Amino acid sequence: MNNKYITNTVYNALTNKYLFARMFSMRYTKKQFEAEYPNDDACLEAVFQDRYGNLKVCPSCGVIDAKFYRVKKRQCYACEYCSYQLFPLANTIFRKTTTPLTDWFYAVYLFSTHKNGISAKTLERELGVTYKTAWRMCKHIGLLMQQENEQLIGEVEADETYIGGRHRGKRTGPADKEPVFGIVERNGRVMAKHVKSTGARVLIPLIEANVSPDNAIMTDQYGSYKSLVRRGYNHTTVNHSTLEYVRGNAHTNTIEGFWSQLKRSIDGTYHAVSPKYLQSYVDEFVFRYNFRGVAVGPLLLEKVSKVVL
Ligand SMILES: [Zn+2]
Repeated sequence: MNNKYITNTVYNALTNKYLFARMFSMRYTKKQFEAEYPNDDACLEAVFQDRYGNLKVCPSCGVIDAKFYRVKKRQCYACEYCSYQLFPLANTIFRKTTTPLTDWFYAVYLFSTHKNGISAKTLERELGVTYKTAWRMCKHIGLLMQQENEQLIGEVEADETYIGGRHRGKRTGPADKEPVFGIVERNGRVMAKHVKSTGARVLIPLIEANVSPDNAIMTDQYGSYKSLVRRGYNHTTVNHSTLEYVRGNAHTNTIEGFWSQLKRSIDGTYHAVSPKYLQSYVDEFVFRYNFRGVAVGPLLLEKVSKVVL
């Protein structure tokens, strides 16, 4: 396993041996999934354990090592001494849902096994729920894959691209395209963001937030990157206009490869993504890229208790 996979999320997983073993076993089969989450009680218990399993003291009566028992017919647990109630689903993507937790968990499982994501239409068919419910579920499950702020290290490549501009099979002008900016570690992780413009005022703060100046950064000769040297970066540029694509170590092939995968995926799965949802699509794609080679099912299911709405 490449060291660069050690992201915040993986670091958290490392501290949870059970999750770690399940993720890095590479496979998470439907059989395993069904054995772990056979019914709504098992799903609720999993979220409760992830969220409150390490609770040492009752937040209300202060009794140390108080046990919390499941309250019958309610989605909550109560302190054995003072009856203080904990609601594991509060503020999670499952809050106030009328959809069975088994359906939610299965939907998360489906997301983890489909490399290019799944559409609301597919979810509607698989779960037998309404399209509206399926659409809402997709949107909420997408939140589990939101990008975290992480520092990219080593040799990184930064680049901007334009996505979209294809409606009902017709190519339209660049005015319809949306700019996306990205930074990638060679053999490592990527961050990508839908931006308002590709001006220096937008791109430089994003670089400064994600890469510290002691790393080597490669870009093309686009004007927005001009100030990087002055800002202390070890900045190398690649001049695409003279066919100088690879000069020694100076290339942007990794990020360009990432862009073409992203565009192929959008064309293949969604045909077009409206600007409003572009970032959530990019987030999902980045998530799958950063966790390539590991089973993301257990990770996504564990994240349910961590993503607070
Ligand atoms: Zn208590």
